[in-house]
Amino acid sequence: MANKVKKLLIDGNDVTFEHYFRLMDSSKYTSKLLERAVNEFSKLPGVGRKTALRLVLHLLKQDISESEALANSLLELRKEIHHCKICHNISDQEICQVCSNPARDRSLICVVENIRDVMAIESTQQYTGVYHVLGGIISPMDGIGPANLTVGSLTQRVSSGNTREVILALSATMEGDATNFFIYRKLSEHQVKITTLARGVAVGNELEFTDEITLGRSLINRTLFEESLRKI
Ligand SMILES: [Zn+2]
Repeated sequence: MANKVKKLLIDGNDVTFEHYFRLMDSSKYTSKLLERAVNEFSKLPGVGRKTALRLVLHLLKQDISESEALANSLLELRKEIHHCKICHNISDQEICQVCSNPARDRSLICVVENIRDVMAIESTQQYTGVYHVLGGIISPMDGIGPANLTVGSLTQRVSSGNTREVILALSATMEGDATNFFIYRKLSEHQVKITTLARGVAVGNELEFTDEITLGRSLINRTLFEESLRKI
């Protein structure tokens, strides 16, 4: 019934619902420029058309210099950002701040999936080594294989002989575990210690609400109580 009503509304033409809603949606906008801006904002992850419209109307209320600052920062970001030649972290220079810092231990490489992981580890202020950003993890479902990642440059870094330890700090998922194992196999011919992050009960979590895999790993990775005191 609903189908018939909507098809009649547009002169009985055989159009899809998607097309129909697009027609309805576009008719709301009194300006093509406004619609275009809303379209662009709504392409961003987590931003629906309502939020996009709110953001665009907010910008219209601000001084034009605010919009110029936003547009210029985005353009400069896209044109001038580098990926560090050593670790593939995002950087303003060819070599990132971490790799170029003489105080960092270059013999200790922490392998992470993406730049957000680098930021998360840096925010702990506990890590003094350097990083290697893989650019993803092996995920056949998403068509991501080892060739799409920076594993090759990691093995090159390690084969140069200056690496003491590689810490695998990937997600605790099946894909993360598969990637860890792939890297482990690749690096096994080199004389390098390979470690992985301890997985255990999160701070503040009640034991009864912890899933059985995490709880099982916490038991396997248990530490001496005296050592846990030293880490506090
Ligand atoms: Zn770097």
